[in-house]
Amino acid sequence: MRSLTVMNMKFLISVASLLAAFSSVALSGADWSQKVAKSLEGITAENPKQERKLLVYSVTRGYRHKSIPTGLETMRLMAQKTGAFEVVISDDMNNFEPGVIDQFDAICFLNTTKDVFKPDKKEWKKMNSEERKQAGERELRLQKSLMNFLKGGKGFIGIHSATDTYYSWSEYGEMIGGYFDGHPWNAGTPVCIMVEEGQEEHACCAHLEGASLNFKEEIYQFKAPYDPNKLHILLKLDPEQNDLTKGKREDESYGVSWIKHHGEGRVFYSSLGHNDHVFANPKVLEHFLKGIQWALGDIEAEVKIGE
Ligand SMILES: [Zn+2]
Repeated sequence: MRSLTVMNMKFLISVASLLAAFSSVALSGADWSQKVAKSLEGITAENPKQERKLLVYSVTRGYRHKSIPTGLETMRLMAQKTGAFEVVISDDMNNFEPGVIDQFDAICFLNTTKDVFKPDKKEWKKMNSEERKQAGERELRLQKSLMNFLKGGKGFIGIHSATDTYYSWSEYGEMIGGYFDGHPWNAGTPVCIMVEEGQEEHACCAHLEGASLNFKEEIYQFKAPYDPNKLHILLKLDPEQNDLTKGKREDESYGVSWIKHHGEGRVFYSSLGHNDHVFANPKVLEHFLKGIQWALGDIEAEVKIGE
């Protein structure tokens, strides 16, 4: 009887934890909106120097993250609640056409994957050879247009799988600062992300007051052109608090967020954004907001590359 009671208890506990786990991943869109809105309540943006317009693009030609709708809603609410920028959430490639792109101050690739200026496979199959030729020409035109936009002094923000994008276009890798090379710490791993030493006062990190972020998140390993000496790293995996033997980098450099220039342009990248909860975390939201405002040109922040 006693052992049966213990067994019942164990069963009940496992059902309860299963339900809890299920409910945490099964929040509806409206619930996420409420969570994000609440997290944004205490966050104040810097006053923009002028009206700013951000394009958020989330086209995928490979893996599609389930957190994309949450991420887009976060960007919408961040714009609405902070007044830091106007946001255009659109997967329309025409926004990258020369001339059209100039209306924006920065572009955000939010969980994009692979070759995002190419037609998708279904479209491609239906195309005749002339249409395919035109699609190829358009891809090159949009690539050039995005780089001209950036080099001329605009901004780029990459979220999570923005580094799992355009392996076939080396300038993109150089611009963003590295390519995805697996995630030795998968989505269910409790990780400890620390502020890079010396960056405690940086405009994008000061709100953390030197404290680490501790939650479950998928953390990327990067390959070339990733080079910590060519990036201004803001957040990284804490080497003391995480199992770095899971990774394969000899330099044990596992940057999580960084900033850099590309020509005159400002690039902010963070590999956070696999799990939905990340987009509702007030500390992450403030980090994203500061990074976005820096990329938009409204926050002064030091970019120090190579020591
Ligand atoms: Zn992911």
